[in-house]
Amino acid sequence: MSATLIDGKAYAARLRARVADRVAQLVPQAGQAPGLAVVLVGHDPASEVYVRSKGKQAVEAGMKSFEHRLPATTPEHELLDLIARLNADTQVHGILVQLPLPDHLDARAVINAIAPHKDVDGFHISNVGMVGTGQDAIVPCTPLGCMMMLRDYHSDFRGKTALVIGHSNVVGKPMARLLLNADCTVMVAHKHSTNIPELARMADILVVAAGVPGLVKGDWIKPGATVIDVGINRVDADTPGKTRLVGDVDFDAAAKVAGAITPVPGGVGPMTIACLLANTLSAYCHQHGLEDAPLLHDEQDS
Ligand code: NAD
Repeated sequence: MSATLIDGKAYAARLRARVADRVAQLVPQAGQAPGLAVVLVGHDPASEVYVRSKGKQAVEAGMKSFEHRLPATTPEHELLDLIARLNADTQVHGILVQLPLPDHLDARAVINAIAPHKDVDGFHISNVGMVGTGQDAIVPCTPLGCMMMLRDYHSDFRGKTALVIGHSNVVGKPMARLLLNADCTVMVAHKHSTNIPELARMADILVVAAGVPGLVKGDWIKPGATVIDVGINRVDADTPGKTRLVGDVDFDAAAKVAGAITPVPGGVGPMTIACLLANTLSAYCHQHGLEDAPLLHDEQDS
C-alpha cells in the first residue's frame, strides 16, 4: 500500500470531542443542553443499530437524546402528529426520522414535515434547495463527513476534477453539489453511465457511493487521487457462516495507486454520526442565537 490511510474513526473521535467541548461551553449560556430526537418506525435491524448509536453518542457529547420507537404499522397521520409535537418542543433542537420507512409511509412528506431548522439530516427540501444554490444550510451528514476529510487533503478544490459514483438524494447528489460549491469540476456517474472507468481515471477526487462491493478497480484510479469509499456492503467472509463489511472500492488494489484512501469499515461510516452531532450543535446554536463557530477543520490534520 502506498496511499495514506484516511482514518475516519480517529477523525470522527476528534470531531465528537470538539462537539462535546463546545456543548459544555454553551450549555451555561443557553440554560439547556442540545436535544436530538430520533424517530424509528418499525424494526429494521440495521436501523435499530444506527438509532442506538446515535442516541448513545449524543448523550456522550452532553446532549439530550429522545428516542421515539413506533410500530411498523403506524399510520402516517400519527407520525406527522409526532413530528409536529417535536417541531414545537423547545427541548428538541434536531429531529431525525430514520430511513428507510415502511412502504405505506410517504418518506418525502414525512421529511418535509420536519421544521427545516431542526432537520439535522439535511433532507428537507428547503435545506436541499439551499445547499443546491450554494447557501448556508444544514448539510446531509454523510457528504458533510466526506467533505471534512477531503478538506484535509485539498485546501483548494479549484482546478481539481472529481467523480462521484452514485446519484442518490442521500449521498451522491449532495456530495456533488458540495464539491461544485467548492469550485471543483464535478462529474456524476450512476448505474446507467457507460464509461465510468474512463471518467474515474480523470478524477483527482473519487467519491464512491453505489452500494456495489468492489465496483471500483485499481486500474480505474488516477495515480495520487484521493478516494473516499462511502459504500457499506455485507459480504460472506472466508470463514463459513461469517460475514464482513466491505466498501465499493477494491481497497488493496486502489491503495497501491491512490494518494489517500478511506477504509471500510473505519472510514466514512464513523464520520456520519459525528456529523449528525455537529449538525445538532449547529441547529442548537441557531435556535439560541449563539455563535455557530465552524467545526469543519481538523486542526490536527491540517
Ligand atoms: P442508493 O441505492 O440510494 O443509490 C445508489 C447509487 O449508486 C444510485 O445512484 C445508482 O444509480 C448507483 N449505482 C448502483 N449500481 C451502480 C453501478 N454498478 N455503477 C455505477 N453506479 C451505480 O444508495 P445510497 O443510499 O446512496 O448508498 C450508497 C452506498 O453507500 C451503500 O453501500 C450504503 O450502504 C452506503 N452508505 C454509507 C453511509 C455511511 O455512513 N458510510 C451512509 C449512506 C450510505
